[in-house]
Amino acid sequence: MPRKKKFKALSGMRDIMPDEQPFWKKVEMVCEAMAFFYDFKKITTPIIEEEDLFVKGTGATTDIVEKQMYSFKTKGGEKVVLRPEFTPSLVRVYIEKGLEGQPKPVKVWTLGPLFRYERPQKGRYRQFHQFDFEIFGDKSPASDALMIQLFANLLENLGLKNWEIEVNSIGCKECRSGYKRKLKSFLKANQRKLCADCKKRLQKNPLRVLDCKEEKCQRVKKLAPKITEYLCEECQKHYEKLIGYLKEMNLPFVENPYLVRGLDYYTRTVFEFVPAEKKEKRQTALIGGGRYDYLVEELGGKATPAVGGAGGIERIIEEMKEKKVNLVKIQISEDKFLEKPKVFLLHLGDLAKRKCFSLIEEFKKAKIKVRQNVAKDRLKAQLKWASRLNADYTLILGEKEAKEGTIILRDMKTGIQKIIPLKKVVSEVKKIMKKR
Ligand code: AMP
Repeated sequence: MPRKKKFKALSGMRDIMPDEQPFWKKVEMVCEAMAFFYDFKKITTPIIEEEDLFVKGTGATTDIVEKQMYSFKTKGGEKVVLRPEFTPSLVRVYIEKGLEGQPKPVKVWTLGPLFRYERPQKGRYRQFHQFDFEIFGDKSPASDALMIQLFANLLENLGLKNWEIEVNSIGCKECRSGYKRKLKSFLKANQRKLCADCKKRLQKNPLRVLDCKEEKCQRVKKLAPKITEYLCEECQKHYEKLIGYLKEMNLPFVENPYLVRGLDYYTRTVFEFVPAEKKEKRQTALIGGGRYDYLVEELGGKATPAVGGAGGIERIIEEMKEKKVNLVKIQISEDKFLEKPKVFLLHLGDLAKRKCFSLIEEFKKAKIKVRQNVAKDRLKAQLKWASRLNADYTLILGEKEAKEGTIILRDMKTGIQKIIPLKKVVSEVKKIMKKR
C-alpha cells in the first residue's frame, strides 16, 4: 500500500499557534494606540500587486526585487507579485485614492503579511509581518523625528527597553552621486577582499556593499569613505536638525555613517532600531525606515516628500519572548488617552519646536492626547490646523517662552490666556480635563 503523504508548512512559512496569539494581539493593540495618539489613519492594501510597482518603487537592483520576489503570471497574463514591502503599495494608494489632495501632512499606517523568497533562518522568514507608518507631504526633519519617536514609544509600550537607534543621512540625488563615485573607486581598490555578491554590487550599486552582512565585507566597510562627509549644505542642515530633535527627546541613538538600508528610494534620513546587545549580529533590526522624497513622483504622483518606517512583528515578538516581557502589564488602549477637551500644541521658532518633542512625550506618558503639527512652522498654518480640529485649548510655545521655560495656555472659546511654567503644563492640562 502506498504511504500517505504528510503535508508540512512550506519552508520559511510559520503557523502562528495559540500560545503565540496573545503576543500578536498586544502588538496590534499597541500599534493602534500609537496610530491614535499620533493621528495616523489605517489603510489595508491587497497582498497581490502589479510587479512593476516594486520594480519601479523598491528598485530594480535591490536584493528584494532581484532575488526575493514571489512573482508570477495570472491566468489573464498580468505580471503580479506577493507584496515584499509596504511603502510602494501605500504610495500607490496615496496617488490613486486622491490622498494627495488632503491637508498635509497625510499620515497613514498599515499592518499585515509580506513575502520575500529569502534563505530561511531564525528571524528571517518567507512570509513575515510588518507594521508600517508613513508621513506624506513634509520635507522637514521634524517628521523624521516624530516617526522615530513613535517607533521608540511603540517598543517601550511593548515592554522592550534595551535597544539603540542607528541614524544616518544618505543625502539627496546630487550629493550622493559624488559620494558614490568616491565609494566605487575605494571599493575597486579593495575588490579582492569583497564577497562574490559585492563584486557584482560594486558595479551596479556600490552603496549596497555597505549593507552586506558578510564579515569580510564588513571589514572593508570600516575603512570606506563616509557619506556624511559628502553631504550638500541642505542635506547637512536637515541631518543636524534631526540630530538636535533626537537629543532633545533623550532617545538612545548613535550615528552610523555606514547605514544605508537595502532599498533604492531612500533620501537623507535612514534609521534602524537594533537590540543593544545584538548590534554585531546579523538580522537583528527590529524596525527600519527613512525618508523618500522622490518616490511619490517616480510612481506617477506630484512631487511629495515623505518619510516612514516598518517593524518586523516576528522579530519583535521573539525579542519580547527572550526578554520575558510580562504581557499582562501591557494594558495600553485607545480610550486610555483622554481626548476631550481637544488641546493643540503650537510652536514658534527653532528652540520651541525642539522642546515640543519632549512635551509630546510628557503628554503621551500622562496618557493625554495633545494634537500638534510639527510639519508646519508658520503660525497661520498651525492655527488653521487647530481650528480644523476644533481645538478647545491651544498651548503656545514661542521662542521667548521656550527660553524662559514657560508656555501660554489659551482657551479658544473665551480667548483668555495665561502663562504657566513649562514644568507644570501637564498637571495644568490634567486639571482642565477634570473640570470638564
Ligand atoms: P525592511 O522592510 O527590509 O526595511 O525591514 C524592516 C523590518 O522587517 C526589519 O527590521 C525586520 O524586523 C523585518 N523583516 C525584514 N525581512 C524579514 C524577514 N524575511 N523575516 C522576518 N522579518 C523580516
